[in-house]
Amino acid sequence: MSYSSGRQFVQLPGPTNVPERVLRAMARPTIDHRGPECGQLVLEILEGMKEVFQTSGRVVIYPSSGSGAWEGALTNTLSPGDEILMFDVGQFSALWIQVAIKLGLDVEIVQTDWRHGVDAQVVEAKLRDDRDHKIKAVGVVHNETSSGVTSSVGAVRAAMKRAQHPALLLVDVISSLASIDYRHDEWDVDVSIGGSQKGLMLPPGLGFNAISDKAAAASKSARLPRAYWDWQPMFAQNASGYFPYTPATNLLFGLRESLNMLREEGLQNVFARHQRHGEATRRAVRAWGLENVALDPKEYSNSVTAIYTPAGHSADELRKVVLERFNMPLGTGLGKLQDRVFRIGHLGDFNDARRCRDGVGFGGHSPPQGRRGGGAGFPDGIAQRSCITGASLIGPDHPAAISTAG
Ligand code: PLP
Repeated sequence: MSYSSGRQFVQLPGPTNVPERVLRAMARPTIDHRGPECGQLVLEILEGMKEVFQTSGRVVIYPSSGSGAWEGALTNTLSPGDEILMFDVGQFSALWIQVAIKLGLDVEIVQTDWRHGVDAQVVEAKLRDDRDHKIKAVGVVHNETSSGVTSSVGAVRAAMKRAQHPALLLVDVISSLASIDYRHDEWDVDVSIGGSQKGLMLPPGLGFNAISDKAAAASKSARLPRAYWDWQPMFAQNASGYFPYTPATNLLFGLRESLNMLREEGLQNVFARHQRHGEATRRAVRAWGLENVALDPKEYSNSVTAIYTPAGHSADELRKVVLERFNMPLGTGLGKLQDRVFRIGHLGDFNDARRCRDGVGFGGHSPPQGRRGGGAGFPDGIAQRSCITGASLIGPDHPAAISTAG
């Protein structure tokens, strides 16, 4: 492959751009994972992760991808044959459902059109029908990365309360943590499942479970087989800053730095920034005349936007052209959305100027006309219009507006 000048500008909904500060923090010699420096590091990070999950409860960190943390949540809280209510709102929900099935759970699946999130009224109706309380857990993906749809976890918990049902609430926050407001304690979530490679601005390789007291108690009697994922030895070792096995020490250095950065910016400002960039992207999509997968504005995701290409145009071909011409990877359409949808990730280490200049404006440099997909159907001048859209969103007094609109 020939050298492509400039830094590759990752515009994926994960893994996201890793800031220099985090890269430098990780570029360190390995340390003894049973020595005092590691103990101190782990204690510090576990406290910091509580702030990000907005919880005062326990957090565990696995050296794993997000899928491992899914398995951790299920195996620690449930027993073979237990019923779990899950919603197929997109590809990641569908994959998590498959994990639950493979683990031997009895999954009641609510199908959707992949353009809407979890319907809290359906949660309430299903739980009211379950008079014998056979359903032991409700599993929800907060932000469905394949469709750019964010479900209201607060509304799901309220529905569970109205139904007076004791099921545990398990929530995948892999593509919303540290980017879209998420409140583990306030929404009374039992297990929140996170990953490192999205809002936390780290490479892949860490999985998280934030755990309520109720979930920790359930783990004492849950009978699904587990060893690596078992919370109990984690709790015991984490108390003094250690792990039951070798942690991903250099990723933990990176995590400490990303937590510092999030704290310096302030979590509420981080959420506001993502909201702004989500809105800028959506305005650009409208200016391009393209269609958002998410249909309900209340459910628009502030970390990723999934966009249909016009009928007859290949989304993968468009992604290929954007990668070749601008060295910018975009997210592919997943599952049944493959080749029909491309995704713009707008989470992690973005600022207003980069977002407007590099991201929102990409599509208008019309890729070669006449190729199937590519630029056909994408009118000239889109870049200009979308940058103006971004600039007008940011406001004429903002420095980003000068650099982009000028
Ligand atoms: N859940 C969601 C919402 C995701 O976006 C992803 C990955 O992108 C996963 C789960 C799976 O995580 P991983 O690929 O880190 O195993």
